[in-house]
Amino acid sequence: MKNTLLIVGTIAYDDISTPFGSTQKTLGGAAVYSSLAASYFSLNAQIVSVVGNDIDSAYLAALKSKNIDISGIEKIEDMRTFYWKAKYHNDMNTRTTLDTQLNAFQNFNPVLSDNYQNADMLLLGNLDPDIQISVLNQQQNRPKLVMLDTMNFWISQSLNSLQKVLKMVDIVCINDEEARQLSQEHSLLKSAKYIQNLGAKYVIIKKGEHGAMLFFEDQIFIVPGLPLSEVVDPTGAGDSFAGGIMGFLTEKNTVDIESIKLAMVYGSTLASFTVEKFGTENIFSLTKEKIAQRLHFFKNLTQFELEI
Ligand code: AMP
Repeated sequence: MKNTLLIVGTIAYDDISTPFGSTQKTLGGAAVYSSLAASYFSLNAQIVSVVGNDIDSAYLAALKSKNIDISGIEKIEDMRTFYWKAKYHNDMNTRTTLDTQLNAFQNFNPVLSDNYQNADMLLLGNLDPDIQISVLNQQQNRPKLVMLDTMNFWISQSLNSLQKVLKMVDIVCINDEEARQLSQEHSLLKSAKYIQNLGAKYVIIKKGEHGAMLFFEDQIFIVPGLPLSEVVDPTGAGDSFAGGIMGFLTEKNTVDIESIKLAMVYGSTLASFTVEKFGTENIFSLTKEKIAQRLHFFKNLTQFELEI
């Protein structure tokens, strides 16, 4: 199979409350948002994940309807699906996690079938770093590009394993608060340098509605967040961003700094859709035309002539 993007991450039931409303037991998880964002590119997306006995089969069927290969999703009959409860504050840039129940992920030890061992590119989505390591180690050849996403939960719960996997990947994608937590530095420049020194060639720091920064050697590149009049639920923005980046690079089948910059524009554009509706509603139902329109808007927003 060509242009294969393997995504490992959570499939979750989320309870979310924001100043604009709340949802209960809605489909979420890093693998879901990332694979939906990636599904808008020409590629073969595959998910490695686990669900419990309470999973609504319609949710998995919905992923399949987007041409995402879900045969790597294990179901554990005597466990429940990963559960996450969070509350967003008034500025929508900060949230408090109220509950995380690993459930089916507790003892998850994925054993990949042959057709899951030859990924061209690998997205180690936000998940237990030991599982991220296991999926990477089961690849027959090292993928052309490996991106890792993580979050505060794993920085505080599994720092040793996280430091181990950070050395094994090409791109680290992390938000500003988590970069500071990991590096113990307030300056994002110093945080990025710290993470680069751990081994990642490219470091992407997400800054919520303020966009994201890319660090490569001594270069810095910035993409804005798209200005939106309506943001109702930021959940999954980071995962959609990561899925958009990896989707673009997998379709293009290239890895270089200029492609990664462009990939970030696609990632930011896809993330901008996710936050406009609760849960996966918007990222699920996009069209290539809608995405292209927003990419044009993005281009006009950031383009200028400079004569000096
Ligand atoms: P994001 O808003 O992109 O940071 O990701 C939100 C998604 O991450 C939600 O759908 C959650 O189900 C999922 N999530 C929350 N906590 C964790 C965790 N500790 N590990 C993996 N996924 C998580």
